[in-house]
Amino acid sequence: MFLEATCFISGHRIAKDRVWHDGHNFRTDCKRCGTAMIRRMNGWQPYMSSSDTDEGCLAPPSERALEEELS
Ligand SMILES: [Zn+2]
Repeated sequence: MFLEATCFISGHRIAKDRVWHDGHNFRTDCKRCGTAMIRRMNGWQPYMSSSDTDEGCLAPPSERALEEELS
């Protein structure tokens, strides 16, 4: 809760060492609260999977590894 409040006030802290590309956009998460982030024209924005899901986007590397294990 405190961490999220800090992000709300001062913005999310982009985990630049964990940036990956989903086929359309650069993605990463917040170092503080773990919110998924997506790089937009105007900068990093929180990633909303319901509205931001683009056809053809790759799953995060961690999820892809899991899918390969399951199949
Ligand atoms: Zn955050």
